[in-house]
Amino acid sequence: MSFTYRNGALCAEQVPLDEIAQRFGTPCYVYSCGAIESAYGEFTQALAGRDALLCYSVKANSNLAVLALLARLGAGFDIVSGGELARVLAAGGDAGKTLFSGVGKTEAEIEFALARGIGCINVESEAELERIARIARRLARRAPVALRVNPNIDARTHPYISTGLRETKFGVAHADAERLYRRAASLPELELVGIGCHIGSLLNEAAPYVAAAQRLVELVDRLASAGVRLRHIDVGGGIGIRYKDEAPQPIAAFVRGALGALGARKHRVIFDPGRSLVGNAGVLLTRVEYVKPGATRNFLVVDAAMNDLIRPPLYGAWHEVLAVREMEAGAPAAVYDVVGPVCESGDFLAKDRRLAAREADLLAILSAGAYGMVMSSNYNSRPRAAEVLVAGAEAHLVRRRESVEELFAAERIPG
Ligand SMILES: *Cc1c(COP(=O)(O)O)cnc(C)c1O
Repeated sequence: MSFTYRNGALCAEQVPLDEIAQRFGTPCYVYSCGAIESAYGEFTQALAGRDALLCYSVKANSNLAVLALLARLGAGFDIVSGGELARVLAAGGDAGKTLFSGVGKTEAEIEFALARGIGCINVESEAELERIARIARRLARRAPVALRVNPNIDARTHPYISTGLRETKFGVAHADAERLYRRAASLPELELVGIGCHIGSLLNEAAPYVAAAQRLVELVDRLASAGVRLRHIDVGGGIGIRYKDEAPQPIAAFVRGALGALGARKHRVIFDPGRSLVGNAGVLLTRVEYVKPGATRNFLVVDAAMNDLIRPPLYGAWHEVLAVREMEAGAPAAVYDVVGPVCESGDFLAKDRRLAAREADLLAILSAGAYGMVMSSNYNSRPRAAEVLVAGAEAHLVRRRESVEELFAAERIPG
């Protein structure tokens, strides 16, 4: 376990979180190298002996140090913008092992990706297919493409994060895929390299994942008999993690299920996990500013807020909250809402938690490694938090805290 108590203090690997707060201040995101490596290892072990590639979904946590760690482990990347490609390159990632997903790629982003030798562009519409062919023709190069196909599978997840149904904006309809592949095959500027899908996020069961992979495989077989041969099958990301009492099936169950769907076919299999690699590898460290008892609710007002971690108000997400110092002597336990200083009633990190905490105590908001820092904002002119990466007994500052001056450095008063 990467976040455990040692001698009464919650630690990231071997480093007590109160030492990190002292050195780097709060609020602060703290990530564990070991936790990322171990989640990555669960995939690679289950994939042993297969032609496979893990393309880490950069949007889950795009800190350069996290990307560099994953690149060192051999990962490719799944990106959704030119900005994310720039990050991957800056972190030493391989463009050739990078997939470019997303419904709204601009001309400039497509040019940038082709110029840098992107491994594959995941095409999400017919108009995009034509645009990529036009740009490739102008640049006199061939564009490697795959279609993101919507298998129309209900991933039984939250409606905002379910992306595999017919009504989503993502991907091309299953019924249109064959026609679009034939069209793509007729364009000499395009090199058809694969097929992909991504049915949603926070999947606890492998069954819908495997069903989607099966739908892709059927299509791959049909295309092959029509003379369109693909090299890879990208079964997506979306594997859930434990936040509270969910019991997601292990990563190996998803991998085995997808491999089962491929059967004896020789295609390279690609996974693009985000949350399952980094979600439980990070905590948000925050300090109690005020204890505010009330007639109907008690509040712990902390120095982290919805601008730092928006998942609780945005998705109604539940994050475990732990006191960094186990059983603080003398602090009376009560049921609290843990709230931030932002001027919104929706500014909460947790509700109805039994905690024993006093002013200046430290709390850790767990499972904050994915969709935490990347979704942070400067609302209320709050500088963004620092980020720290721990490896064993070493804590490295991997993003310094923003300064207030940086917040308005790009602004000008006219006249
Ligand atoms: C967001 C996304 C992922 C990663 O989803 P997780 O739930 O974080 O694993 C993978 N593939 C695509 C295309 C995505 O958009």
